[in-house]
Amino acid sequence: MFGLKTDWTLDIPDRYFTLDDYEGNIARWCPGCGDHAVLTAVQRICRDEQLPPEKTVAVSGIGCSSRFPHYMGTYGFHGLHGRAFPVACGIKARRPDLHVFVATGDGDCCSIGSAHWIHAVRYNMDMTVMLFDNFIYGLTKKQTSPTTYRGFSTNTHPRGAWLPPMNPTAATLGFTNVSFMAQTVDWNPAHLHATLLAAFRHKGFSFVRIIQRCPTYTGALCDALQRDPSQILLLEHERGIRLDPQVGRIYPNKMEHDPSDLVEAQRIAARDDLMPIGLLFQDTSRLRYDQYSSEGMNTPVESKIRVIEQELDHYAI
Ligand code: SF4
Ligand code: MG
Repeated sequence: MFGLKTDWTLDIPDRYFTLDDYEGNIARWCPGCGDHAVLTAVQRICRDEQLPPEKTVAVSGIGCSSRFPHYMGTYGFHGLHGRAFPVACGIKARRPDLHVFVATGDGDCCSIGSAHWIHAVRYNMDMTVMLFDNFIYGLTKKQTSPTTYRGFSTNTHPRGAWLPPMNPTAATLGFTNVSFMAQTVDWNPAHLHATLLAAFRHKGFSFVRIIQRCPTYTGALCDALQRDPSQILLLEHERGIRLDPQVGRIYPNKMEHDPSDLVEAQRIAARDDLMPIGLLFQDTSRLRYDQYSSEGMNTPVESKIRVIEQELDHYAI
């Protein structure tokens, strides 16, 4: 790979991609699972942004949501548990021309993958990360995850989870070099689509926590939020998530929030009376690791050989 050109797109002019071009295998998630909505939103963004399927890659770890790459008609890498980020960073480091989407769950990201999560935020490589937070390990049948609510009965804590749940949004906002943090819900397609689109267009590590329905194991948790929009706090700002005003009308609780204000974003994320949705933080000036790691990738082979030979000449006797 080294020394070769990185643009592998076939030179075919006037291609127009339809939704069919982004469809992979038939999704095997449970009926009513929020993952279906996220898949649809990403496929629509790929179509709207006309991303060539051969220049797009979906990466995941292990869990229900991590089946995501199988259902995309793009390249994909279904990785190991908790290891979506190192795989995605590796791809981005060597192929900066690819559009990278990462699908990870609350178990995958916030437990076994937490060390990778911290450093992936710090590396700030240009990719769109979707944290599917359904408050449970769904694939392994209802075990307590780091975000499981206190008192919620699971197979590992039948009398109720007893530790306070982790807040992935507040945590991400505390990591060094965070550049984009948003939160949305899977049952509002307009907000979900607008949030993921803003994340995709951000140059850097875009982290989106999606509150995701799991009707099989944690249905009651999201039912309350879904049926009572007054439990949601809609964040609005001219530089925030662009939303049709009609969509926002269902939420009685709104707040004007400047996404450049990190301290205020942290304060909002820590609220436990309402679930904030919208853009909490964005800073486009943060350093990106992929700017450094891709340096020199287009250097011709001849130039590389010449430099290597010059170096080796130091040892000529
Ligand atoms: Fe979705 Fe839950 Fe079924 Fe997994 S167990 S596919 S998260 S509804
Ligand atoms: Mg989960």
